[in-house]
Amino acid sequence: MLEAIARTFFSPLLVAWLLLVLGDCLSTFCYHVPEHVFGSLHLKTHHSAKKTFRHYAILTFNLQVLLDGLLGALPYLLMAAALWPFSPIGVVGGLLFGQVHVWWRHVTAIGWQTPKPIALLCQVLFITTPEQHWLHHQKTNMGFGDIFTFFDQPARAWMRFLRWIRLYRRYLPV
Ligand SMILES: [Zn+2]
Ligand SMILES: [Zn+2]
Repeated sequence: MLEAIARTFFSPLLVAWLLLVLGDCLSTFCYHVPEHVFGSLHLKTHHSAKKTFRHYAILTFNLQVLLDGLLGALPYLLMAAALWPFSPIGVVGGLLFGQVHVWWRHVTAIGWQTPKPIALLCQVLFITTPEQHWLHHQKTNMGFGDIFTFFDQPARAWMRFLRWIRLYRRYLPV
């Protein structure tokens, strides 16, 4: 009985959604935002001016680009391991969606414009469109949440807090 409920509850779709939400959450708050404040790798690779689509979509063998991509993807892989017992199909589906979304959110670099119905669907599901992600490429303090837009506002607050820490640390007596 319990098993049947658990199986229904952790249906593949829910597992895929959980993987993406938790992966995006960890990736945004534990890697992406702190890396913007304290690091330089992500800024140097992902925000370097006027690179090609292949560069942004991590379809290149540049080691630094691959490392930034891997660090950003690590939380999704951890979630994949944690959720695997509940639904392997959901995990594989979630990872595939995440990978395709990495490519899709960078198609602005090749001149793509999201059709209105798709943009509307993304708005309803809180999914980041290429246009919204492009905002982040242009202005690094907005457009957070690689996959989900609801992480944008809390990520901005987290960024302000970490910047304050960075500033405060500078004036700490050593
Ligand atoms: Zn990007
Ligand atoms: Zn960034």
